[in-house]
Amino acid sequence: MRKTPDTRIPMPKNPDRKSSVQNISVTHPHAGPRTRIGVHLSTTGGVANAVRRAAEMDANTLQIFSASPRMWRASKISAEQAEKTRAARAELDIGPLVIHTSYLVNVCSQSDEIREKSIAAFRGEIERALTLGAEYLVLHPGSYRGMTRKQGLELAAKSIQKAIEGLPWQQTPFHILIENTAGAEYSLGGSFEQVAELIEHLRSYAPVAACLDTCHTHVAGYDIVSESGWADTLAQIERTIGCEKVRVWHCNDAKAERGSKLDRHEHIGEGKIGLDPFRRLLREPRFSHAAFIAETPVDAPGDEERNVLTLRGLLDRSFSRMNPHS
Ligand SMILES: [Zn+2]
Ligand SMILES: [Zn+2]
Repeated sequence: MRKTPDTRIPMPKNPDRKSSVQNISVTHPHAGPRTRIGVHLSTTGGVANAVRRAAEMDANTLQIFSASPRMWRASKISAEQAEKTRAARAELDIGPLVIHTSYLVNVCSQSDEIREKSIAAFRGEIERALTLGAEYLVLHPGSYRGMTRKQGLELAAKSIQKAIEGLPWQQTPFHILIENTAGAEYSLGGSFEQVAELIEHLRSYAPVAACLDTCHTHVAGYDIVSESGWADTLAQIERTIGCEKVRVWHCNDAKAERGSKLDRHEHIGEGKIGLDPFRRLLREPRFSHAAFIAETPVDAPGDEERNVLTLRGLLDRSFSRMNPHS
């Protein structure tokens, strides 16, 4: 990979931005302002255990599944588990807590049966997120196979509205984050416009914002790799979703080429995206409020920690220069 020397001076955080629990900056020996970096972790042993594991690997945010992502049935989160999670997060300054919705949920399915099941399951996801005090619940907008995109969009909005109706989210920081997808046929959310449209449809019914995934963005066809391409992509995000609305970036390198629509995640710096785009993203002042979370493969023990370290290292100027991969 060709190296481009990084001559940029780190920008101060936007002083106008309201600080909230999830983006407190604390000084850190190697990162300056404490950017929120984490990884998707298993909740074996409970959610509080995942929070502790995140802290051990120098992550300060994390993503989890709140139930098995491949089963319709889900058990409830006990009050005790929720309390333990809150206590661990407060003690270790871990946040935001991000939950990824089950893969089975398809809120714009043309099948009434699947859609009703999806609405019920998504309502369960929201209930568990609220019990746990999670800030964000990430949702793939789904597949509208058999319908037009417009019908799919309207169905997705209606289903999400139905799922959250009457639940007590108002006094909480909770937001549903619509994630952009790899752009496969019939999948809703393959462009920033589609994510923005869904957010716009839901604005008055539910707390919604966006999650962007670097791998999905790349394989959907956006250029995030070249410097000028990134500038253009950034302008497109600003014009459609709005950078402020992007609360989480899923940081995944891509096994596949730009525009391939193939969603295969790779370790940070080892795929078609490479390290430089991640360095630019992490240092982009317009995303200083966002959390950066890897959903990279776990091929060997320690892979989660390794990817967190790589991302953390990209923020550190001296570390970046020492790192042979950068
Ligand atoms: Zn993702
Ligand atoms: Zn993906």
